[in-house]
Amino acid sequence: MIIGIDLGTTNSLVAIWRDGKASIIPNALGQHLTPSCVGMDDDGTVLIGEAARARLQTHPHMTAALFKRYMGSERKTQLGKQRFRPEELSSMVLRSLKEDAEAFLGHKVEEAIITVPAYFSDAQRKATRVAGQLAGLKVERLLNEPTAAALAYGIQDTQRETKFLVFDLGGGTFDVSILELFEGVMEVRASAGDNFLGGEDFVSAMVDAFQTRSGMAKAMDKQELTGSQRQRLRDEAERAKRVLSDAPKATMTFMYNGAEFTWELDEEVLANLCEPLMQRLRAPVERALRDATIKASELESVVLAGGATRMPLVRKLVSRMFGRFPQIHLDPDEAIALGAAVQAGLKMRDVALDEVVMTDVAPYSLGIGIARQVGPNDYEGGHFMPIIERNSTVPVSRVENITTIRDFQKELTVKVYQGEARLVSDNIYLGTLHFPIASKKAGEISADVRFTYDVSGVLEAEITVLPSQEKHKLVMSENAGVMTPQEIEQRLAELAELKIHPRDRIENRTLVAQADRLYEQLLGQEREYLAQYVAAFQSVLDKQDPIATRRARESLIQAMQQLDGGSFL
Ligand code: ADP
Ligand code: MG
Repeated sequence: MIIGIDLGTTNSLVAIWRDGKASIIPNALGQHLTPSCVGMDDDGTVLIGEAARARLQTHPHMTAALFKRYMGSERKTQLGKQRFRPEELSSMVLRSLKEDAEAFLGHKVEEAIITVPAYFSDAQRKATRVAGQLAGLKVERLLNEPTAAALAYGIQDTQRETKFLVFDLGGGTFDVSILELFEGVMEVRASAGDNFLGGEDFVSAMVDAFQTRSGMAKAMDKQELTGSQRQRLRDEAERAKRVLSDAPKATMTFMYNGAEFTWELDEEVLANLCEPLMQRLRAPVERALRDATIKASELESVVLAGGATRMPLVRKLVSRMFGRFPQIHLDPDEAIALGAAVQAGLKMRDVALDEVVMTDVAPYSLGIGIARQVGPNDYEGGHFMPIIERNSTVPVSRVENITTIRDFQKELTVKVYQGEARLVSDNIYLGTLHFPIASKKAGEISADVRFTYDVSGVLEAEITVLPSQEKHKLVMSENAGVMTPQEIEQRLAELAELKIHPRDRIENRTLVAQADRLYEQLLGQEREYLAQYVAAFQSVLDKQDPIATRRARESLIQAMQQLDGGSFL
């Protein structure tokens, strides 16, 4: 059995292909979405998912989130006494999803298809594979997220050629991809996005507006909110945001220094508030269309993915931009996992839909630093000359010619960069080629700079000096930051030593973490009241009596709902 996994920045999901269709497997809490959060409990056990998410606020130094952003880098996160690489944290999320699938299916699961953003570089893809390996999963293949969304919608069954756009707005990232299905091959034609734009930004905008419009800012008198007040206000904004996805109006309420502040908002208010964010959603769409040399009118359909596309505002923007309604018959936050399961199903039935391979594209532009002429005899260095443009289909090889600009220049220095900025200082430096040349007048020596970028993300720069035909070569592998097989073996052994919170007790542990979070937000009598219920629940837990446990759990949940209107979930 191969499972399909959407390993998301904010939330992850696991799905399977069964009885002719893809379906999501619920986690130990019965939920479809597992927050991509990992934490260390006070006794050193690892907590994954909702329990860890609840502790982000109460135990920030023991909890990690958003680590997908750092995949493919060496950046480590400290949790208690230990430090973890992003692929190790990801592996714990994968492990928990794997266990959910095993509990659901009643047998072991060893293989998975994991989705990755289309723009993920080779290093980021390798790190994702390693994460799978560390979780005890054989990664059957990595599938591009937009391709997965397309599979969930059955676009591969279209017998015709078709071009479509996937609009994926998650918690903190925005990805736009243009795909083309041609003679059974699905190809990512272009991908663009904004790595710092997502549902969380809408919450931030609401939090800021609430403070002025509810009159709370005046009462605050330039005082800052404490971390826990801020988090509570964010939770309230998140709740209101979700209400507005289903209802015309929502009210935000917040207690500050003993006074209650409220603000009622409707879709129009939210639209005005979020106008700057809506503007930012346009640019990547335009860029992707331009890169793919496609007009919006040539797209056959628009597919939505990501939880934030549940917002009516976002759907309206999409409809307006494309002059048609997007496809919405699936839950957008489940589309990618469902697509991964479709791919798993195809694989297991041995339907050779391996043709739904996408040819990959170079995720960034690659080029060199040059001097530009700014006056008759005046040159300014530090400019970027792209050689391979972003979204070129790989493998790709391109050549550009450069000439000397100074008389009797004795050497040539070529610096290689990746990025989209006009000045090299704003791009990422990859390497330098430096060599002597014959001393001639400016412009008499020229050189061909050839860049070759292969499918595994290795860039080779070759410079041929004219007329001598002398060649110089530099090979840049993006593999810095990828673990070696020895490192993987070693960390596998070390990770096996970690105690992971047992699945059958995670529900109770999560509830206590949520109660702890609520406790921090409350004051006075309410705190006392909650503390009593938590203590009662914990003492029952120790006795391991299932019926008494259920009863105590239910009264704790009731108490929490009373105190917080149910938004603690
Ligand atoms: P990611 O791909 O980043 O892991 P998701 O696709 O799960 O994330 O999307 C998470 C985002 O979706 C969050 O910002 C959340 O607030 C938002 N979201 C989820 N449900 C809704 C809803 N009903 N209305 C508005 N936003 C929602
Ligand atoms: Mg996602």
